[in-house]
Amino acid sequence: MTSYFKNKTCLIVSKHQKEIVIAPILNAKLGMKCVSNATIDTDALGTFTGEIERVKSPYDTVKDKCLLGQDFPGVDFIVANEGSFGAHPFIPFITADEEFICLYDVHENEFIVEKMLFYETNFSTVKITNVAELDDVLLKLNFPSHGVILRTENLIIKDLFDLDEIRKCVVEMLFQQGNCNIDTDMRAMHNPTRMKCIEQLTMKFTNTLTSKCNQCGWHGFTIVEHKEGLACSLCNRPTKSTLYHLYKCKKCSFEKKNLFPNNKEVEDPTYCDWCNP
Ligand SMILES: [Zn+2]
Ligand SMILES: [Zn+2]
Repeated sequence: MTSYFKNKTCLIVSKHQKEIVIAPILNAKLGMKCVSNATIDTDALGTFTGEIERVKSPYDTVKDKCLLGQDFPGVDFIVANEGSFGAHPFIPFITADEEFICLYDVHENEFIVEKMLFYETNFSTVKITNVAELDDVLLKLNFPSHGVILRTENLIIKDLFDLDEIRKCVVEMLFQQGNCNIDTDMRAMHNPTRMKCIEQLTMKFTNTLTSKCNQCGWHGFTIVEHKEGLACSLCNRPTKSTLYHLYKCKKCSFEKKNLFPNNKEVEDPTYCDWCNP
């Protein structure tokens, strides 16, 4: 156990009960004392349902979320999570959930971020025009174990957990608008699949936090850049695929390059802009 984190107080910023999975791991693996506060309004940085648009990247948003907790007295660290859902970056017909977690070290004024890409997600939106379609859609979106959100062009209804109530709202929305979207509720407390992803990410994150700089031994020796430029096997020109991961120490600035992190030394011409424009 890294003594740097042991017995320190960590505030978990979440409106959506993520501390349920994050706190026990930080406590068991790092010995942190976790506190949570659901009154910090993380929705101000953007919501999944789009009432408030997220203007920054998930990487910057997760850092901003941590900073929302910085006026909280007596904490040494602040942890927050941010998820991003949609088409997989390389396989567009697959939906994916990219989760970010960040620890802000209040005393060092330093951020440590980790991310993971998950394919297990029920993220989806289905447009219906007839109430008869509702049962099949709800089944597909894993209701009732997972929440759903009803949406038309000008109305969003959340926090519906009763089938009869959902049906009543859908009938009304169809009557008003002619169609209605059934969205998966991606808020963690209504989405056990996502909660599991956050749990896995937190496990990985504890390894990131405890990894030490080869030169000075400072914790959190982590990837700061995915450098592209892996050579095409046909024309030898650089592709957009990762050539190396750059690790950098936040204390002494020591750098380490991890070449060919995806275990391939050349890229398939399929991914070459020159050979396959
Ligand atoms: Zn160092
Ligand atoms: Zn090529």
